[in-house]
Amino acid sequence: MGKIYIVSISSGSSSDLSKRAIDALNESDVIVGYKGYIDLIKNVIEGKEIYSNSMRGEIERCSFAISSANEGKKVAIISSGDAGLYGMAGPIFEMADGIEIEYIPGITAAFLAASQLGAPIMHDMCTISLSDLLTPFDVIEKRLKAAAEGDFVIALYNPKSSGRQNHIETAMDIIRLYRKDTTPVGIVKNALRSGQNVKITMIKDIDFDEIDMSTTIIIGNSQTYIKNGYMVTPRGYRI
Ligand code: SAH
Repeated sequence: MGKIYIVSISSGSSSDLSKRAIDALNESDVIVGYKGYIDLIKNVIEGKEIYSNSMRGEIERCSFAISSANEGKKVAIISSGDAGLYGMAGPIFEMADGIEIEYIPGITAAFLAASQLGAPIMHDMCTISLSDLLTPFDVIEKRLKAAAEGDFVIALYNPKSSGRQNHIETAMDIIRLYRKDTTPVGIVKNALRSGQNVKITMIKDIDFDEIDMSTTIIIGNSQTYIKNGYMVTPRGYRI
């Protein structure tokens, strides 16, 4: 009987792979994933049949995984962070019929980044992807406005790509209508993997040139402050 494991690889570094993720990779005959993520875990998938392709090849990857499982193979389809947030879990559940699926959760980028910034989340938060490949930009703008107005801590994913250089600036223009210029902002590139870069700044001082597609940005709420070089959002305890 074939089976699909949806494997969340968190940061991709071996110390962040869960035991369940490693067990599923070991169990699998075929590993399917975006080329960049396959490279991150190459030390744990040596000798396996690999199917990888580029960004935007998601549907081909899912089709391949499903047809391999239908041939009776055990297939791991991998996603960075958690597969259920802007990852491969959705299209697998949308496309697969009559196949056993096991979804192994992971640590999403907002929490990988948070762990390097202090305790920036701690309270009600939301994630917003700035990619308009699958979501119209006016919907993204509406959500940015609502999140900013609602005083959520906001984690921005997919802040920039070669075709989308200015979305992050537009997003910050919306957010700053509702937040002080001195609101702390954490900018984390390649959290917990090689090339990590961590910066804590304020809305008014963001250097947009430092932001790329491997960056997650965490914008504090009205209560977030900086202490000892860490970003802290109070839960409300009397300290
Ligand atoms: N499923 C993934 C998100 C995929 S969308 C998750 O749960 O994390 C891709 C975006 O995630 C990137 O553009 C970036 O904003 C963010 N991201 C993924 N891994 C990251 C990391 N290690 N460090 C910082 N940002 C990361």
